[in-house]
Amino acid sequence: MAIIKLTPAFKDYIWGGTRLRDDFGKQCSFDKVAESWELSCHKDGPSVVATGEDAGLTLREYIEKHGKQVLGTACERFGDFPILIKLIDAKDNLSVQVHPDNEYAQRVEGEFGKTEMWYVVDCDEGAELLYGFKHQISKEEFAERIANNTLLEVTNNVPVHKGDVFFIEAGTLHAIGKGILIAEIQQNSNTTYRIYDYGRVGKDGKPRELHVEKAKDVTVLAPAKQYPETPVERFEGYTSKLMASCEYFTTYVLDIEDKAELEADGSSFADLLILEGEGTVTGGDSVSFVKGDSIFITAGTGKFTVSGRCRAVLTRIDEKQ
Ligand code: ZN
Repeated sequence: MAIIKLTPAFKDYIWGGTRLRDDFGKQCSFDKVAESWELSCHKDGPSVVATGEDAGLTLREYIEKHGKQVLGTACERFGDFPILIKLIDAKDNLSVQVHPDNEYAQRVEGEFGKTEMWYVVDCDEGAELLYGFKHQISKEEFAERIANNTLLEVTNNVPVHKGDVFFIEAGTLHAIGKGILIAEIQQNSNTTYRIYDYGRVGKDGKPRELHVEKAKDVTVLAPAKQYPETPVERFEGYTSKLMASCEYFTTYVLDIEDKAELEADGSSFADLLILEGEGTVTGGDSVSFVKGDSIFITAGTGKFTVSGRCRAVLTRIDEKQ
């Protein structure tokens, strides 16, 4: 039963900006801070415990020390830590990409597939992202358009606004566009198949690797599924809106005006990613937070209170639906 703050791992991918340092207070010496991995047990970028007697342990070491019950019974079915939560600052366009589903990823890459969701934390006027195709295309057309660089003629470009939510099921073609800052909740995976990279070169001066054959195996060649808008629910002191509920994670965006009484029962941990404002989480432990902080509440903590004025993404794992 604990409430702990986490410090993230950082990535300096070529398309990143500086807002995670300048606006979100991230302590990172990279020139570009493209991503901060806020809740991560992934070997490519683990989060580290920042508060309490276990400060300095990676989140994975923390779980090994305290036992898997800190994750909750709903996590047992996954075998490994199921999710990864990031902040992503796209100063430039990300590559056009796709991720495999669990079956393909486990067979070919030896890790989980990647279904993900995005919450648009902030964006420039006129910012757009790429989300699936305008219409169904054939395998032959897909291959031909990749070969002759005309894929972007058939992709679906969507204007985005602060607060928009996108659910990107594995197999959905996508790209975050420039000028967008996103909170991403995804499966615990770092497998990306890049299809088109605007002819850019990486830090070594060479074009970044593409993964066209694997992308052909896994891409769904159709418009992305549409999901109905969910209502904003009002509770005492805060509002909550369900953003995504899938086999791997359930996420809400909370707007807390005063305080929110929440609960982490034995079925799942809870994670809070603070997007605006400041306050305190109490429930046994007491942890203060500011914008950009990530707070992990172990399963079985029971009732806890978030006090202050803030916006936060709340993530938990539900029992299989
Ligand atoms: Zn992606």
